[in-house]
Amino acid sequence: MDFSFTDEQKLFRKRVRDICEQTLSPRAAELDETGEIPREVIEDFGAAGLLGVTVSKEFGGSGEGFVKAVIIAEEIARSEISMAAAVYFVVEAGWGFILDRYGGIKVRAEVLPDVVKGGSFLGIASTEASGGSDIASTSTTLVKKDGKLMVNGTKAYISGVQEAARYGGGYVTIARSDPEGARNGLSLCYLPVRDQPGVTVTSQRQMGREGISNGFIRIDGAEIPEHYLIGEWNRGFFYAMEGFNCARPLVAAACIGAAGKVLEVGTSYLKKRKVFKTPLAGFQGIQFQLAEDYVKLESSRLLVYKAAWLLDQLYGGVEIDRKEINKAVAAAKIAAPTAAFEIIKDVMMWHGAYGYTRAAGLERGLRGVASYLMGAEGAQNIMKIIIARDVLGKEFF
Ligand SMILES: Cc1cc2nc3c(=O)[nH]c(=O)nc-3n(C[C@H](O)[C@H](O)[C@H](O)COP(=O)(O)OP(=O)(O)OC[C@H]3O[C@@H](n4cnc5c(N)ncnc54)[C@H](O)[C@@H]3O)c2cc1C
Repeated sequence: MDFSFTDEQKLFRKRVRDICEQTLSPRAAELDETGEIPREVIEDFGAAGLLGVTVSKEFGGSGEGFVKAVIIAEEIARSEISMAAAVYFVVEAGWGFILDRYGGIKVRAEVLPDVVKGGSFLGIASTEASGGSDIASTSTTLVKKDGKLMVNGTKAYISGVQEAARYGGGYVTIARSDPEGARNGLSLCYLPVRDQPGVTVTSQRQMGREGISNGFIRIDGAEIPEHYLIGEWNRGFFYAMEGFNCARPLVAAACIGAAGKVLEVGTSYLKKRKVFKTPLAGFQGIQFQLAEDYVKLESSRLLVYKAAWLLDQLYGGVEIDRKEINKAVAAAKIAAPTAAFEIIKDVMMWHGAYGYTRAAGLERGLRGVASYLMGAEGAQNIMKIIIARDVLGKEFF
């Protein structure tokens, strides 16, 4: 067992950090105000090869594994703690991998190279207003008709709707292809957004991560080419579950990236700020909190890297029980947002009244991390159900 990063991984992290500190950090406050990640930032990420990290070289990516992707997610969120930019990266890296793995050559060639360059956006459209946790009850329909695919339905709380409408791109979309089949009656397809007749998007302002839009996709008789089907007909539920296993370590990594940065800011503040003629760092009540936050961060980080490492083993050809992956991923997805929320809250409190100001910039992190407690990339209770199911056995569920 080796807990250290390789020299190559360390150099990679340094390169990503340098890019993020140059291009993203200086604009972190601005993008939270304007509600948009500057295009130059996305294009710089694309030019640096960050956006295509999990996509195969054939389609413009670098074909790297999930440990590298987790490093990127962590570093992007360090530089922009509202995590809007990290979300942009995470959905593309997680779901771009699934499109690349299961899509046919034609759809991959049409979609992936531009996404990887930072041109168009790629997201996931799974959730419906009737409840995101119960994917097997998806009601958006997918029907084969005259050599085309016809999609109808409404997707809710979807990240990146305005980016896809403005700059092009679309969604890995889950839809019902067999009315009888429950989870065996769902398929995945690629649904373009811009210039796609029958598709309209509307936004809903979120509590945080303001730099990336979120909202609804109304799909009213959208006709898409048959080659936009991803993988086999009626197997979509299983590809989607695999996609969530790929995306969740990345969102967990973003949470530890943001929290790690905030804890550094907090630690240096504790040494400087004097109250009762003593630095805050000198009070044991504060020291204990700092130590507890350190433990929360480090234990979450270990879970995140373990999950990413397991994925790399799996996709590298090592035989691993799916349950081990499910549990590791769900554990990381529970631990990291929970830890990050508590850490950022503590650091805000160490800052006193200043911590509550927008000028301090800490609240952006709290608002962003909260999205992963509320449900983004899977609700916390659903992660607990996954762990309990794979520990106890399916007969209890
Ligand atoms: C900021 C943000 C961005 C998002 N982006 C996307 C996106 O890009 N694409 C996309 O498809 N979706 C997206 N979502 C939606 C997300 O996937 C859903 O929020 C999530 O799947 C939960 O669904 P829901 O919100 O409908 O909650 P529900 O499914 O209604 O669940 C509500 C609550 O009940 C709990 N719960 C549910 N079932 C059980 C149970 N059996 N036992 C105990 N407790 C249970 C949940 O833990 C949750 O706390 C986003 C959400 C947010 C907040």
